[in-house]
Amino acid sequence: MKKLLCGPVEIPQFVLDAMDTPSISHRSPEYEKIQKEVEMGMQEVFGTLQPVLTVTSSGTGCMEAAIINCFSPGDHVVIPIVGNFSKQFSSMASEYGLDVEEVPFEYGQSADPVRVGPHLKPDTKGLFVVHNESSSGVTNDLKGFGALVRDHKAILVVDSVSGAAGLPLEMDGWGIDILITSSQKCLMAPAGLAFMALSEKAWQRCERSGFPRYYFDLRRFRKFNQDNQTPTTPGIYNLMAVASALQFIRKNGVGDVVNRTAENAALLRSGLKEIGLELVAKEDAIPSDTLTTVLVPGKSAEWLSALKEKGFQVAGGLAPYKEDTFRIGTMGYVFREDIEGMLSAAREIQNERL
Ligand SMILES: *Cc1c(COP(=O)(O)O)cnc(C)c1O
Repeated sequence: MKKLLCGPVEIPQFVLDAMDTPSISHRSPEYEKIQKEVEMGMQEVFGTLQPVLTVTSSGTGCMEAAIINCFSPGDHVVIPIVGNFSKQFSSMASEYGLDVEEVPFEYGQSADPVRVGPHLKPDTKGLFVVHNESSSGVTNDLKGFGALVRDHKAILVVDSVSGAAGLPLEMDGWGIDILITSSQKCLMAPAGLAFMALSEKAWQRCERSGFPRYYFDLRRFRKFNQDNQTPTTPGIYNLMAVASALQFIRKNGVGDVVNRTAENAALLRSGLKEIGLELVAKEDAIPSDTLTTVLVPGKSAEWLSALKEKGFQVAGGLAPYKEDTFRIGTMGYVFREDIEGMLSAAREIQNERL
């Protein structure tokens, strides 16, 4: 069974093997070496010279960390909404008492920085953007959003959980202030670890926030990170897995993986359209290269089981389009032959149904 999932994704055997090793202490030199190696790899993935913190939680934990370390109740923040994950980020910010201004976009459309820009007021404290919307399968123009906050007091907080290590990413170059990802998507490792980096502008915000913080106090993370450690016991085995995945990713360069992902997704999109299937991503949206959402009104379950019979496990749709869409992941350990196999299975299914 080939799995083309959207997270957690298939874990390659060599990554599983990296965890088959005796336990080590997180206060040992062996551990510090692994954390350092992962940090260097993640700096390359993020496109940053800032420290990349290892956090034992899923990616959502780092989003909470961003809020409680860099904001205060009542702060005005702007959030373009393009699907479930941007909505979730908005709900979290509201729950923490931020003054959230949503800027809604049609489902299947990318967020347009030109339309979002006017919503930033002089005292707006943050702009929260999902890099790659894993429900509808669209990508947002981070470079464009970075330009909006470059000369503004607001910080740009980016959820790149389904983007980092699969899509081009230039944290420093594009002016991203907080960048977050987790281990179970393009990093093709088990769930349980998340990574985040902060710009100087964001670190300054960390000095004073209006929220209590302890487990997710990023000032402590930064201090321990100087010795390649974490404040509390991290997911040590998960970190071994990520180290192994990053060795693979960096072997021919992160750019090589990003190119493979883009080529696979382009092949997938054109093949699906040729078969007569429609995508959720609009023609003028930036389609996601890490996952493709297919529109099959009322027929999602049927497609999932038909594909499974032919040896391909893909991901279901997300509410409110659970019955009407399914998602094909091209993140992680996915190669051209997998896409070709998937397309010929989809073609057979279409023909059988006609
Ligand atoms: C998967 C996903 C999340 C959730 O990440 P967790 O690691 O499960 O907390 C958030 N945002 C996006 C865009 C995702 O794809």
